[in-house]
Amino acid sequence: MSKTANTVWKNCLDFIEDNITAQAYKTWFEPIKAVKLTDDALSIQVPSKFFYEWLEEHYVKILKVALTKELGEKAKLVYIIKMENTYGNKKPFTEKIPSANRGHLKSQDVDVPLKNKSPELKNPFVIPGIRNVKIESQLNPNYNFESFLEGDSNRLARSAGMAVANKPGGTSFNPLLVFGGVGLGKTHLAHAIGVEIKDKYPEKTVLYISAEKFTQQYIESVKKNNRNDFIHFYQIIDILIVDDIQLLSGKAGTQDVFFHIFNHLHQNGKQVILTSDKAPVDMIDIEQRLLSRFKWGLSAELNHPDYDTRVAIIKNKLYRDGVEMPEEIVEFLANNIKTNIRELEGAIISLIAHSSFNKKEITIELARKIVENYVKHTKREVSIEYIQKVVSEYFQMDIDTLQSKTRKRHIVQARQLAMFFAKKFTKASLASIGSQIGQRDHATVLHACKTVNNLSSTDKQFRKYVEDLNKKLTL
Ligand code: ADP
Ligand code: MG
Repeated sequence: MSKTANTVWKNCLDFIEDNITAQAYKTWFEPIKAVKLTDDALSIQVPSKFFYEWLEEHYVKILKVALTKELGEKAKLVYIIKMENTYGNKKPFTEKIPSANRGHLKSQDVDVPLKNKSPELKNPFVIPGIRNVKIESQLNPNYNFESFLEGDSNRLARSAGMAVANKPGGTSFNPLLVFGGVGLGKTHLAHAIGVEIKDKYPEKTVLYISAEKFTQQYIESVKKNNRNDFIHFYQIIDILIVDDIQLLSGKAGTQDVFFHIFNHLHQNGKQVILTSDKAPVDMIDIEQRLLSRFKWGLSAELNHPDYDTRVAIIKNKLYRDGVEMPEEIVEFLANNIKTNIRELEGAIISLIAHSSFNKKEITIELARKIVENYVKHTKREVSIEYIQKVVSEYFQMDIDTLQSKTRKRHIVQARQLAMFFAKKFTKASLASIGSQIGQRDHATVLHACKTVNNLSSTDKQFRKYVEDLNKKLTL
């Protein structure tokens, strides 16, 4: 009859699952691990401080009800925060937050772990009077939150962005790193955060810059011998948004200067927002000390939009452009352009252009022709979803079995093959592949790829699987 952390938590989860949406449950409760049960206190481990704050803000009531049912009136909840180690941070950071007594689930403040806080600033002075110089934010007002539609694929990143916009520099998401594939809305979201901050805090200096332009400016400053002015300029910004930081890879000088600017801003409570087409763990040729800075805050991924979000985005675009389009064409577009919102918008624009140039109605035939052009010009990417379908059909199992936690050898192998092909045929990061194939982490995916490579050179039967699947997937 003795209760354990796991059984208590399991019962809480059952209760919570019945009372919130499936999506919310999946996002906010599945990643939690029960760690310890002592007397009336249950310790749960949450993946980040963001998680903890979110739970406290949105789910503290239901957590309290669930836990009181299990442990009685004196129930306490203790959070243990793990530093984001999903993206390659090997050193877990844990911290206990004792909750207040008497069953009140109120938590004390947590400090963000800033181990390497000591500054190495070479230029700690500020140019007198420079604050009066108005700095243009370089923001595009059309890229705002209102036009950035919410869906499962962007919920976490969008809410984190909102949180940052409400309290720039005042949340644990500093830096906020938004990452994801091409055309999924990184630039749009980065602008939206900036636009929102300008709106709420007109006195703050916001600056948006692409990493490419930042690099050019830096090179220019070195040529003109005013590297220090360059650094000072960036050090007085309140909210610095740097887009596509993966472009800093291999550029040691620029990384170095960015490192100093970043530290200065961070230490002074200024907000840094970054975007990248890769998760930190997948970035190459970026210095370790910089990578570890990126992991201080929150990394939030933008995924491929699901069908409903695609439909919503199309309709929103049509509405803004004042164009009407039959429902079946909207559905056709949403069904056929899946992996890139920019392409989706491109197809809509050419559809509208064709129909108005030729004074023709927008028909499904016209839509088909245009989508064909799009699909022809852009190499079609096999989706991870499709790979799992093909692999599980091949082994005659369903996708749930493929994704399950079982260690049965043939199922493990099928899963590893799915991961291997996902790495081979998509541009998805290891972390993203793992999360889509049964909620595994990037290390598991990496291990799977190695195993498949090994087995295909030692095991004939296995090699046949690889060849068969390869054929099916490249058809
Ligand atoms: P990325 O920087 O990731 O390559 P962008 O931010 O340039 O992508 O987005 C590509 C296009 O898709 C932009 O026109 C943007 O407005 C649009 N877009 C992306 N995400 C959304 C969204 N959630 N809602 C509406 N439009 C979006
Ligand atoms: Mg972009």
